[in-house]
Amino acid sequence: MTLSPNGTGEQDVLVVGAGFSGLYALHRLRGQGLSVTLLEAGDGVGGTWYWNRYPGARCDSESYYYSYSFDEELQNEWEWSERYPQQPEIMAYLNHVADRFDLRRDIRLGTRVVSAEFDDGPARWHVTTDAGERLTCRFLVTAVGCLSTANVPAIPGLDTFAGEWFHTGRWPHEGVDFAGRRVGIVGTGSTGIQAVPVIAEQAAHLTVFQRTANYSIPARNGPESVESRQAIKDDYAEIRRIQRESTNGHPFLISERSALEPSEDERRAIYEAAWERGGLRFRASFADLLSDRAANDTASDFIRTKIREIVRDPEVAERLTPRDHGFATKRPPIDTDYFEAYNRENVTLVDVRETPIEEVTPTGLRTSAAEYPLDRIVFATGFDAMTGPLLGIDIRGTGGRTLRDKWADGPRTYLGLGIAGFPNLFTITGPGSPSVLCNMPTAIEQHVDWIADCIADLDARGLARMEATEDAETAWVAHNNEAAGKTLLPQASSSWYLGANVPGKPRVFMPYAGGFAAYTRICDEVAAEEYRGFVRTR
Ligand code: NAP
Repeated sequence: MTLSPNGTGEQDVLVVGAGFSGLYALHRLRGQGLSVTLLEAGDGVGGTWYWNRYPGARCDSESYYYSYSFDEELQNEWEWSERYPQQPEIMAYLNHVADRFDLRRDIRLGTRVVSAEFDDGPARWHVTTDAGERLTCRFLVTAVGCLSTANVPAIPGLDTFAGEWFHTGRWPHEGVDFAGRRVGIVGTGSTGIQAVPVIAEQAAHLTVFQRTANYSIPARNGPESVESRQAIKDDYAEIRRIQRESTNGHPFLISERSALEPSEDERRAIYEAAWERGGLRFRASFADLLSDRAANDTASDFIRTKIREIVRDPEVAERLTPRDHGFATKRPPIDTDYFEAYNRENVTLVDVRETPIEEVTPTGLRTSAAEYPLDRIVFATGFDAMTGPLLGIDIRGTGGRTLRDKWADGPRTYLGLGIAGFPNLFTITGPGSPSVLCNMPTAIEQHVDWIADCIADLDARGLARMEATEDAETAWVAHNNEAAGKTLLPQASSSWYLGANVPGKPRVFMPYAGGFAAYTRICDEVAAEEYRGFVRTR
């Protein structure tokens, strides 16, 4: 049996997933002389951007910094066309990266990893694919993404629907024709908010089934001029420095002022300017928006007023107004004409908290109050986030213990990178790391660099096995909870950060909320102190 594309047998490293994480991991690890094979379930590279092809799919981070920083030539040669990159443009970028760094020769597409078992004697991982192949490696690196396990709600009758239904994260590559169709969309998270205005323009009628009203800030997307692209390139060193030293991996710093400090007029002027500038930077307007309820209220109220100004029907505006959580305590969406879409004749809003969805019928969707005839249903219902992609693989550590068993009450990791009982396993952007609270490529590069340095150090010292200790893990879980507890984030009870969107999932705040720069410092200290909290042996 061939164990790798180039037939070299056992690999130093197997990487699972060919998105931003896996591609860079392959490049970086191979660059230090390791044999690496990357296994990818999809038929192409791109990860999240390979699967999420729904109408309006676009990144909420801006192009110039939602990109790799590890290679200066790459960042200088690539030209982003718009302020925010559209899905096809990110796919083109990642395919360019795969070609430019000759990555494809070590990537196996259409290969889903179904299980991974650690063999303690020789300290090897045995990985099994959906084709029944068994591969062996010294180190297993998961690059499976945080938002790659689609969450399709178990609505009775879905299998009886005579029309077609789709989940946004599993969108057909050939696209979906909505012309002349009655379309229903369930979900008003970042995805639904991007898709609604685009589908509304194509469909005969669009019914939006909203469970939790959401805040959104205008993206203010537009073409990137030649001049602004050049200015960014001239400033890249500084941009990247700020990203690395920031809380969220973005190239802007959060204001140091409290939202409660300025006069009402001054505060409104600051919010107005941020609203006009658009994008995720809105939440950087003041220091305490995510830590002080009264400060957060000022931003939440400002956006509520905006919703009422934009949406002409006051009843619809009222239903669209979020009341059960503060701005940005759930992942804040940004939009292009989302609230404006509700002024269209062909868009209806249904509040399914008031009148819950009861079933899908052959001809549509029925709530407790009415039946809505539909030809197409779009589920923008999110993901089994962070733990779903890892627990989708049957991972077994020392003594045959499964990760599913270990995480039955929620994820436990050390730094979001290592797991006690699972030696030689590294989880890129795992639970307990900044990951989804950070601009992802920034979080990913930091993790990949740390892992690569760590493996180099093990090899230099002739060490074969590395495992997080239970004590270090327990302390990290406690520190995570403490960091989250200093913010308002765990108070958003319907947040996917807490696993609240998936029925039966343990409620644990999963990403590390202590900030990216602080996290990086901790990781660097751990490494400098001979990988404090890990046991490393021959
Ligand atoms: P999401 O934020 O989890 O939103 C899912 C939506 O579906 C929510 O409105 C949720 O309501 C609703 N929902 C879920 N189950 C439902 C049910 N059974 N009945 C009715 N409604 C239901 O998922 P998402 O919008 O796909 O976004 C996930 C994350 O992906 C984002 O937060 C972001 O991190 C990332 N993302 C990024 C971009 C970007 O950068 N461009 C774009 C899209 C997504 P509740 O709120 O009540 O649970």
